[in-house]
Amino acid sequence: MQQIHSDRPDQTNVDQAEISKFESAATRWWDTESEFKPLHDINPLRTNYVDSIAPLAGKKVLDVGCGGGILSEGMARRGAEVTGIDMGEANLNTARLHALESGISVDYRHITVEQLAAEQPESYDIVTCLEMLEHVPDPESILRACHALVKPGGHVFFSTINRNPKAYALAIIGAEYIMKMLTPGTHDYHKFIKPSELTRWCRSTGLQVTHMTGMVYNPLTKVYSLKDHDVSVNYLMASVKPG
Ligand code: SAH
Repeated sequence: MQQIHSDRPDQTNVDQAEISKFESAATRWWDTESEFKPLHDINPLRTNYVDSIAPLAGKKVLDVGCGGGILSEGMARRGAEVTGIDMGEANLNTARLHALESGISVDYRHITVEQLAAEQPESYDIVTCLEMLEHVPDPESILRACHALVKPGGHVFFSTINRNPKAYALAIIGAEYIMKMLTPGTHDYHKFIKPSELTRWCRSTGLQVTHMTGMVYNPLTKVYSLKDHDVSVNYLMASVKPG
């Protein structure tokens, strides 16, 4: 049967309220003093992390839930050929405009990762899905699609927030209400994901977890750093699809 292409992607695994939240802030993605400051602060760390495990230069990379393109541009600057996908059209417009201004080439598309997986399986060397899983109804479905999209032997990276009292205290009470780094309501504690859960989902979809590290914020120095031994709040996970 012929596939019908429509410009209204399937919304099954999209929480429209979440998308609207990000779209209402879409003009501020590149404002380093806005609610997106933490993403700018962690960007060199996470770009280095990806680049050190899966060298980016010359690679075909998919950035899932790319938002305004902070990570996508960072990876393109390292020489990767990047496609960024997001379900917020306003986010993509900001991303496209910024790429134009910076003279960086990134292909931004309004499509779900599940649809892209059906369209072009096994076509990326590296897939990144950072700070996005905690905003979708069914994160496992995102993992399955990422697994389908990466080439055998390719790498998939995830980052999200752990679910425990410390993460609640720091990521919600601390970041949203005390330090006002994020807009209140940005995160829902129940959608946070334990590393053990993410590892289990990786395994059940066929991805092998190769490394995990914490992104730790020091409120005194206001500096983030990678700490392998502390995945208690924000963490990054590296995985491969066996070749
Ligand atoms: N990954 C980016 C942005 C993180 S914010 C970064 O780390 O810099 C989360 C992004 O995920 C938002 O831009 C939001 O619009 C997007 N998003 C949420 N649910 C989505 C879905 N189901 N499909 C695609 N993008 C989604």
